Amino acid sequence: MDYFDIAETWDRKTLEEVQVSRLKTSMAQAMKSPFYSRRLKEAGVTPDDIRSLDDLRRIPTTSKDDLRAQYPYGFIAVPKEELVRLHVSSGTTGVPTAVYHTREDLASWADLMARCMYMVGLRPGDVFQNIAGYGLFTGGLGIHNGAERLGCLTIPAGTGNTKRQIKIMRDFQTTAVHIIPSYALYLAGAIEEEGEDPRTLPLRIALVGAEPHTDASRRRIEELFDLKAYNSYGLSEMNGPGVAFECVYQNGLHVWEDAYIAEILDPDTQEPVPEGETGELVMTTLCRRGMPLLRYRTRDLTRFLPGPCPCGRQHRRLDRILGRTDDMMILKGVNIYPMQIERILMSFPEVGDNYLITLDRKDNVDNMTVKVEVRPEHFVEDMRALHALQRNITRRLRDEILVTPIVELVESNSLPKSEGKAKRVMDNRELH
Ligand code: ADP
Ligand code: ZN
Repeated sequence: MDYFDIAETWDRKTLEEVQVSRLKTSMAQAMKSPFYSRRLKEAGVTPDDIRSLDDLRRIPTTSKDDLRAQYPYGFIAVPKEELVRLHVSSGTTGVPTAVYHTREDLASWADLMARCMYMVGLRPGDVFQNIAGYGLFTGGLGIHNGAERLGCLTIPAGTGNTKRQIKIMRDFQTTAVHIIPSYALYLAGAIEEEGEDPRTLPLRIALVGAEPHTDASRRRIEELFDLKAYNSYGLSEMNGPGVAFECVYQNGLHVWEDAYIAEILDPDTQEPVPEGETGELVMTTLCRRGMPLLRYRTRDLTRFLPGPCPCGRQHRRLDRILGRTDDMMILKGVNIYPMQIERILMSFPEVGDNYLITLDRKDNVDNMTVKVEVRPEHFVEDMRALHALQRNITRRLRDEILVTPIVELVESNSLPKSEGKAKRVMDNRELH
């Protein structure tokens, strides 16, 4: 096996020893920030108290609200003149938060990112098209710098302008892309509309992430373009992409535990969940100087996958992200995640690339409507076939989520598309 970084070869014992020693350093660094100097003093914990990984639990968690309350500068742990980059999270769930980086922070982020890309087979010589927002969104510059660090010919394509994206792919014979999964599905359709088969493009690898998606969606992307798609996980607060990434075995995302400590906690009690169970991912930076974060509550729900990975890396693997704690819908007393619905929808070959879940309240009764785009070749089928499809989808959804949604089949490309992360749920209930 071929590695980008020596840390990928470390065994558990080495990894955990490194984590303990880096945690002490990271804590000491964090205490230079106004927020942590106060927070850790209140908690009565110092770096000297950390003797094993279990001692991590003596450190209080940090929430998104803490970040917001300290906006803009309360988490900075170096003199301001050492900071060279600022990113702001895309604000999918409300007020944005700011994250700062020193020059060394950016270099180690690029190393982590290059490591992910090398792991799935990207090499110098690859033509890499980064279809991601180059603004404050970390998927733009974050992935870009990793690709350059690795030595790929990197094209900062940005988002939107689908025709130009396709032209770039053709003209420069793009071999690898970074793309949001919902846009990848859309792009395949757009290429077909131009009379071309996406499978004939020389693309061989896609990095997909930034939003929850199912394995079924990934397989669909792989088939549509005839490539391998690898799940990429990250969040601005932990730099951005490059936190956890699938290896070629596509069996969960290795967390780079030499740079982060990952915990899975019960979101209500903040106690660790039993091994292998789903909970909230909580992350600690081990190598960041500009803005260390200790036990940051990501609000993303996932679990650790058991057992070793055939690739040999001993970095633990996370399961695909189920959603955010705040994505959970409660309907008639039942907890439902959008990904449960996507998983069912994508298992129907007739279903197209976009769907929208709407929640409404009428006479104090909650209802869910799922609008589903149907592929053009199926939409022209006779009414009976469409009715049967609608009934089948309804039944399978009811079996999965235990409430019966109203399923509406709509024409391809008729639902709103977003350029960035897809918006899958519209909850109109608060408005009444
Ligand atoms: P925002 O929180 O405003 O969306 P970020 O750009 O920092 O801003 O997004 C990070 C979030 O995106 C993660 O916390 C997670 O919810 C989601 N995300 C990122 N990568 C993935 C992925 N591979 N699978 C599922 N969700 C992801
Ligand atoms: Zn692996």
